[in-house]
Amino acid sequence: MTHKEEKIGIIYHPDYLIHSHAQHPERKERLEFINAALQENLILDKIVRIDPLPAAIEDVALIHDRKYIQSIEEACQSGRGFLDMDTYIVPDSYRVALLSAGGVLTGLKAILDQGNEGLNKAFVFNRPPGHHAEYNQAMGFCLFNNVAVAAAVAKRDYGFKRIAIVDWDVHHGNGTQHSFEEDPEVLFISTHQSPAFPGTGQVNETGRGRGKGFNINIPLPPGTGDSEYQKAFERIIIPILDQYKPELLLISAGQDAYHRDPLAGMAMTEAGYKYMAETLAAAASRWCNGKMLLCLEGGYHLQGQAGIIVQVLNALGKWGLDQPAKDQDREPAGHILNRLEQVIQAQKEFWDL
Ligand SMILES: [Zn+2]
Repeated sequence: MTHKEEKIGIIYHPDYLIHSHAQHPERKERLEFINAALQENLILDKIVRIDPLPAAIEDVALIHDRKYIQSIEEACQSGRGFLDMDTYIVPDSYRVALLSAGGVLTGLKAILDQGNEGLNKAFVFNRPPGHHAEYNQAMGFCLFNNVAVAAAVAKRDYGFKRIAIVDWDVHHGNGTQHSFEEDPEVLFISTHQSPAFPGTGQVNETGRGRGKGFNINIPLPPGTGDSEYQKAFERIIIPILDQYKPELLLISAGQDAYHRDPLAGMAMTEAGYKYMAETLAAAASRWCNGKMLLCLEGGYHLQGQAGIIVQVLNALGKWGLDQPAKDQDREPAGHILNRLEQVIQAQKEFWDL
């Protein structure tokens, strides 16, 4: 069976390189390596480049305290520095962070509004990342929670009642969970290493109030690889998505579960990431007319992340590029399957698993 190739929207701006710090893992080279990989793999004719617009304050204020937003602006006016142990700013960081959140909003419009040749999918190559940013706190290299702002704007402007956010970054998306913990209109599903930063994301955090049952945490031990991630998708993520029937699928795409990532200890390969992208794209075809928006979160092995992104785009666009080397074909490890079983037990109350 052959599938028709799809063009994928890419939202990128050179100003995303301005927020950077030479001694920090979350630095501009992350995007430079992605740009180089797009060129080397000769896929520039398969993508549609879209310029991002900055987010409006009122959009960011759907997720963040206005006083916090202002405090970021003021901190940047006074120069370079750190807002906490991990999270740096430079004088332009406020402006770039608005452009980063705005990139995801631009991506949203690109796939949901008419025009753009019927584009269904887009990937936002934005920085700084967002999923750790809380209502009134910068955290974990993140200033504004880009994906959360996009989900809130999608509710407000498009009237969606069922938005799914899948966060495959190796760290728990604490800010995103907290933004929608009480909201059944946004389903949050996160795979992450545990124990690891930021320490949240336990199995029993299943949502609160009206949002009970709409928060799915899948904490996994160091060493989890392609075969176990695949089990998590087959047994938990895809069945829940198929029951929720999202109208829009957003992905917090962090490539730091890669086996050579310097900040984490997982064992994923390019093939595993390609599998996740393919599987989620298939779910998007079933439930959201193929609409799927990915935004960059973490991923600190420069070459590794760039290779993964080429394969993710390949999967989304059905371009048939050379396949990545297959996983070790290792059987899923028993102690990791036990972790999945714990998630299933915690979620059975809400979902048919
Ligand atoms: Zn991360």
